[in-house]
Amino acid sequence: MKYERILIRYGEISTKGRNRKKFISQLRYNILGLLQDMPTVKVQADRDRLHIYLGEEDGEVILPRLQNIFGIQSYSPVVKVEQDIEQIKEAALQLVKKSFVHGITFKVAARRADKSFPYETNDLNYEVGSYVLKNIEDLKVDVKNPDIKVNVEVRKEGVYLSSEVFEGAGGMPVGSSGKAMLMLSGGIDSPVAGFLTMKRGVEIEAVHFHSPPFTSERAKQKVIDLAKKLTRFSGQIKLHIVPFTEIQQLIHKQVPENYTMTSTRRYMLRITDMIREKENGLALVTGESLGQVASQTLESMQAINEVTNTPVLRPLIAMDKLEIIELAKEIDTHDISILPYEDCCTIFTPPAPKTKPKTEKIKYYESFVDFEGLIETAIENIETITLSGSEEKNTLAEFEDLL
Ligand code: ATP
Ligand code: MG
Repeated sequence: MKYERILIRYGEISTKGRNRKKFISQLRYNILGLLQDMPTVKVQADRDRLHIYLGEEDGEVILPRLQNIFGIQSYSPVVKVEQDIEQIKEAALQLVKKSFVHGITFKVAARRADKSFPYETNDLNYEVGSYVLKNIEDLKVDVKNPDIKVNVEVRKEGVYLSSEVFEGAGGMPVGSSGKAMLMLSGGIDSPVAGFLTMKRGVEIEAVHFHSPPFTSERAKQKVIDLAKKLTRFSGQIKLHIVPFTEIQQLIHKQVPENYTMTSTRRYMLRITDMIREKENGLALVTGESLGQVASQTLESMQAINEVTNTPVLRPLIAMDKLEIIELAKEIDTHDISILPYEDCCTIFTPPAPKTKPKTEKIKYYESFVDFEGLIETAIENIETITLSGSEEKNTLAEFEDLL
């Protein structure tokens, strides 16, 4: 069966009043980005619906891809036939056959937008319904609560039929709520934080701090792979890799051991904020969750956060580790995150970091040296990689080759 188009329902964005236009055009843009490799596809958006005209392309290939696009509530593939009762019957039969399982119920719901079509709605329901019923054994009609509802819409230019409804990812189209910088480590949490942020329509750029030779190429590759995984939800992600070795070494020379972790996080946050400014981002995002580790007490967050007024989004703040792991598995980042390669923080983490650091003390310790030159050098030597979805497929395989 050949689909003519895929019909997309917006869901949440349709309630957003005057921003609606922006949301819809962003969603259209994101869908076009996802289907870049399919030049004959056309995407047209109107107030309530968006239509993907398939052209030469195979709808079955596009359907699963739409699963990752935020801003879609549900979607249905649509068959188009001529205003001919035999063609309508046959198409309806094929649609029901496709989803048929033993003991299932169905109904036909016809709508006649073109009143010149000779069958009235009820007649059409009956004609089409009885044809389907006659040709599939063990099928029943249920007009109140059917398992399959075959929509038949008669229009001047043709008749449209659809029955399957796929649930979309919900949320808002990525890019419709501005941009934020995701602090991406190699751990389980920060990729999930990125995913949740994108779900609210925020575009992300990732920032990662690495400290060669204390952290390996593999640790860096792991972060690249994580960022690539996230491109499924946004099409493209910029990843800024910041050389952090010298700053970390200076911190360790300068700051008492139990305060090094706090200081390290402060410099990371500050540098990320500087990158944000350059890239016109509006917020910072971390994978922090309250109470997980020493750096994640409120006292610690306060001491770290003191370096900036920029909003720091912490989408995981109230989540349990198990819930986070669950989500990480769903978005397929978990298995990369648990690979063992050391993070710059793991290596430099003192045995007993302060769980209640005092902001005054950390400022005092940091005041003895001038970090500014090192920060400048780090920023000048950032490696920026733009990752896009098409590269995403084979990364895990590539990675396994390294093991
Ligand atoms: P994650 O699982 O995301 O690594 P975590 O539970 O290990 O988080 P921390 O090590 O305290 O927690 O890190 C808290 C947050 O700080 C991370 O979620 C991430 O946003 C940021 N972060 C930590 N290390 C780095 C790094 N090397 N580069 C960029 N951001 C980092
Ligand atoms: Mg970590």
